Amino acid sequence: MARRPARVQVDPESIDSNERPPQTGNIFNIWYSKWSGGDSSDRNTQTHSKTRCNIERDSGYTKADKEQDPFFCLYFSRGACCLGKKCEYLHRLPKETDSWIPHTLDCFGREKFAEYRDDMGGVGNFNKINRTLFVGRINEMDDSIELKISKNFAEWGEIDRIRVIPTKNIAFVTYRNELNAQFAKEAMAHQSLDLDNENEILSVKWANEDPNPESKAKIEHEHNLRKLSVAKQLVEKLEKLKQYESEKRSAVTVEEPDKIEDFSPKRQKMIQPSPLTPAFFNGSLSVLSELKQKKAHPQKNQTLVEYSSDDSD
Ligand SMILES: [Zn+2]
Repeated sequence: MARRPARVQVDPESIDSNERPPQTGNIFNIWYSKWSGGDSSDRNTQTHSKTRCNIERDSGYTKADKEQDPFFCLYFSRGACCLGKKCEYLHRLPKETDSWIPHTLDCFGREKFAEYRDDMGGVGNFNKINRTLFVGRINEMDDSIELKISKNFAEWGEIDRIRVIPTKNIAFVTYRNELNAQFAKEAMAHQSLDLDNENEILSVKWANEDPNPESKAKIEHEHNLRKLSVAKQLVEKLEKLKQYESEKRSAVTVEEPDKIEDFSPKRQKMIQPSPLTPAFFNGSLSVLSELKQKKAHPQKNQTLVEYSSDDSD
């Protein structure tokens, strides 16, 4: 744990509160009883980022270091958290040992989806292990480009390999750990390789599958393991959802006045699972039925079949 308190990256006075939507907000996260959201997709891609995280200078402990299973601060990754040690999210780089983050969420606690967005932006896909970022809109492809990319991207985690395609002004950066790729995607979005070069506004997205045939079998094996693990997590999640639903139902029938107080609007909101986005939910269900059809794993299938028949009525 960091011994030093996290640095306040931007002056709270300088921030219009409308500019900072809550990191958690759009989607109710049943595992953590929190709301998750804060997708960067709506950020203006034509504007250079005004802030940039400096890990060495900015990281330190926050309230999150005392929490169980905390997430990383999205605003910290962009160099724009005004809360410092008061922040409820982690202000440091993800590490290999941060294994509590379920595969259906990213390191910032945002829901992933069953498929990538068409433009390969967004939070990502829970069926794929993706450690590779696509870096586009690089201004100059000179001899030092690989070194420059390495210097910029290694700030966010250990890099496995860098592939530069000079004719297209693009590059691919593969991290050792997927959580670092998630962090780097936010940290490097709308930045430039040369500090203060406002003419360069990098586009950082998820890369498509690795075209290297040597690693294909290994990747496929990893993906199959990931799909099974995700299916298990989704089943657990759906069981929790059912539990919430039945709690909600029993809450309606409670009549003693002191019990009713427990279900004040605030409490109601906490146990209200309905705002799960249909898109995410459909995604989850399609993964479950896909796995069920494949009959890859008899034991798991049993659970899946039970779930599906319950759900359809
Ligand atoms: Zn923060």
